[in-house]
Amino acid sequence: KDSIFVPAGTVLFRQGDAGDCAYVVEEGRIAISLQDAAQSRRVAMRGRGEIFGEMAIVDGSTRSATATAIEDSRLLVVTADRLSHRLAAADPVLRMVVDVLSGRLRATMAQLARTERAAASDAPVPATGPEPGTGEHSAMADIRLEQDLVKGIARGELCLHFQPIVELAERRVLGFESLARWNHPERGLLPPADFIPRAETSGLITAITRWALPRALDDLLRLTEAASAAQVYVTVNVSVADLQDPDFPGFIASCLASRPDAEGRLKIEVTESLMLAQPDRVRDSLHRCREMGVDVAIDDFGTGYSSLGHLHRLPIGALKIDRNFIAAFDHGENGRKIVQTILRLAEDLVIPTIAEGVETEEQAALLAEMGCGQGQGYLFARPMPPEAAGRWLRDRSS
Ligand code: C2E
Ligand code: CA
Ligand code: CA
Ligand code: CA
Repeated sequence: KDSIFVPAGTVLFRQGDAGDCAYVVEEGRIAISLQDAAQSRRVAMRGRGEIFGEMAIVDGSTRSATATAIEDSRLLVVTADRLSHRLAAADPVLRMVVDVLSGRLRATMAQLARTERAAASDAPVPATGPEPGTGEHSAMADIRLEQDLVKGIARGELCLHFQPIVELAERRVLGFESLARWNHPERGLLPPADFIPRAETSGLITAITRWALPRALDDLLRLTEAASAAQVYVTVNVSVADLQDPDFPGFIASCLASRPDAEGRLKIEVTESLMLAQPDRVRDSLHRCREMGVDVAIDDFGTGYSSLGHLHRLPIGALKIDRNFIAAFDHGENGRKIVQTILRLAEDLVIPTIAEGVETEEQAALLAEMGCGQGQGYLFARPMPPEAAGRWLRDRSS
């Protein structure tokens, strides 16, 4: 346990110090005092069950007061990273409330210090208050984005683009990855980087998946019918939140049940780094997907922390090698070594590999030579709207 014992008289921190932790009083009493050049005045006491020094871990600012143990005390230390990491990932409304409250508390402390000083010198107390109009709070943009996204989904502003996945040796088209785009009424066509990360942290991502999965199947059926390519599959990017949702496998099953022509033609992609959370629930979902004939590819492979050890216990249909490793080919031997290692691992586990971000013929040739079976990238085609993907497929097969 992170408890410390401090004898009476110990100064825990001084006003103006850099702070990186807060304390909860388990036993004893702590005096909080404000200091100026002339003197120190006690402004508060903290006893059993109370927290102090919390401002530093909320906003990383310096200590606004001095804390001294006035009895032998036992304190629980709460480090900044315990809170700030959680706060950064938290709901933006919560974040904003915490920021606003800590800002107000600070202003109050500063005002208190000025009042004390003025009382000591009989000078008039200068007026204070929050700085007016200092711009929009950073959480505001996130809150607005979330609200816009909820509306955008309902209004049909999202669409999918499709990028082919090809066999490197013969250049045969095996499938398409579906990639979300947002036709924002004011900002134009937005790439996923502008809204997927926020959707992940706010929980909206499951709404996006529920929209994307049936849409991907419908678009696939339309675009491959036009090109008479009845074997081509589609992949949908899903988040770990989806895999943790016990209803998710049932949702996939119902999407497939109402589209018999899509059977065996749906795959999902999950990012490697996301696989560590709730491994049992995730593993269960992956097994149920496989039972339905839905293969799971591990996305961005090589960028996460997954121990290779847990990979072989998961039903994995393919490894997608992150495009940064492919880009590193052009920077000599080391870039290739990582890919070589991944390919060897995949071979041992008998898992097919897909290289992402293949942009040049040299990369494609090298990958094929190293034993990578499939590729995806601008060399073959960029992500395209469904109609264009259908035309692209038709032109190739004729
Ligand atoms: P990802 O799953 O790794 O998708 C591949 C990304 O690489 C796509 O970016 C694609 O356009 C891009 N790309 C493909 N080939 C090349 C190439 O040769 N060179 C370069 N430089 N880039 C290439 P995009 O469409 O911007 O998507 C970004 C990420 O957003 C995706 O990365 C995926 O993680 C996420 N995402 C996209 N759509 C969805 C979705 O429907 N659901 C979820 N959960 N995530 C999505
Ligand atoms: Ca992907
Ligand atoms: Ca990827
Ligand atoms: Ca990626």
